[in-house]
Amino acid sequence: MNNLEKRIIKKIEEMREEIIIFNQDMIKIPSENPPGKYKEIAKFTEKKMKEIGLKTQIKRDNVIGEIGNQNGKSLLFNAHYDTVEVFKNWTRDPFGGEIIDGKIYGRGSSDNKASVTAEIFATKALIEEKVQLKGRLLVTAVGDEETGGLRGVETLLQKGLIRGDACLLGDAPCNYPIGYTGGTMYITFTVGGKQAHGLGFPDLPAPYRNERSGVNSIERMMKIMNFLVELKKELHTKETRYPLPEGWTNKVSNINLAEIHGGNKITTVPDKCYLHCSINTIPEQDIESIKKRIYDFVENLKKDDPFLDLTVQIPISLEPFVIDGASEFAQAVQKASLAVYNEEREFRLFMPSTDAHWFQERGIETILFGALNWSCHAVDEFVYIEDLINTTKMFAIIALNYLV
Ligand SMILES: [Zn+2]
Repeated sequence: MNNLEKRIIKKIEEMREEIIIFNQDMIKIPSENPPGKYKEIAKFTEKKMKEIGLKTQIKRDNVIGEIGNQNGKSLLFNAHYDTVEVFKNWTRDPFGGEIIDGKIYGRGSSDNKASVTAEIFATKALIEEKVQLKGRLLVTAVGDEETGGLRGVETLLQKGLIRGDACLLGDAPCNYPIGYTGGTMYITFTVGGKQAHGLGFPDLPAPYRNERSGVNSIERMMKIMNFLVELKKELHTKETRYPLPEGWTNKVSNINLAEIHGGNKITTVPDKCYLHCSINTIPEQDIESIKKRIYDFVENLKKDDPFLDLTVQIPISLEPFVIDGASEFAQAVQKASLAVYNEEREFRLFMPSTDAHWFQERGIETILFGALNWSCHAVDEFVYIEDLINTTKMFAIIALNYLV
């Protein structure tokens, strides 16, 4: 560890209380998505960025802070302050920010208010230690990640409000940098049918039917579901060679049959059925070929069944991503883990999709590091205070390595 790194790490240790309090204060401002109302949290975040000395602006409730100059590389910090809903059965106050046994409790405490906190205080440490950046650091805190990021990161990038050579994104598990991300696809199947008396004019094959007979949408959906379950088994035969974060075990691609709706009444042939699925792939399997398998199956199904009324919608389709471990940015990250954890830490694979793909699609090299744990999106979400502090250190040292 060089002297500057030592000073920055010491500075962050000194700011420990302030970092914890800021995270607690963020938790106390609800920013569930839906409904996605971010005015208050955006103002609160911007105020802090201003206070530490950043030039700031708010665009569509997304906050952008800036420091440095245009003569060099530019690095983006990114984290999101929207959270999933609280849902039921919490035993702690989801907006309380209570501290118990080294953990801060609350919705969004780790996902992802910890990283909003980390990126701001990492920048504060650099400013207070008077680090001269050779380039530009953009600190971004956004909404809308939990529902896809279209009104958040995507809007900022698309309007040219943020740019960068590299991005450090805070939406990830702690202790190891994430250099590999899984592929994701959301898919909705809608099957139409024909309503009829389920006992009088059921859905039967010829010669037991006439023009009044029903067409059963649920039975047809079952064919799709059976196919997906078989496809899932096939995907499970390949394990990824990339290491996962500690405690995460999904080394294979998966199809999650997530939500199903259909039918009206026990004596009626159902005329509508909807199925929502999420598909998640390891870097060794691509989304495009899974999509093709599904379309091929659907085409064959349509050929065999003249009554089949089926539509397929794919609102989200993202390929997996693998970084180049030899790049300057990847090296800056590796070196930072040496300073923060006293050892080089290998890149790991994070399977869920995040805002990272918006940056990756535009050729911005993106590595993730955050303070997530298994409690995110669940009841009694918390962040370990040590993870919060270490993430802050990693953000600061990575910027130092990359921009100084
Ligand atoms: Zn998140």
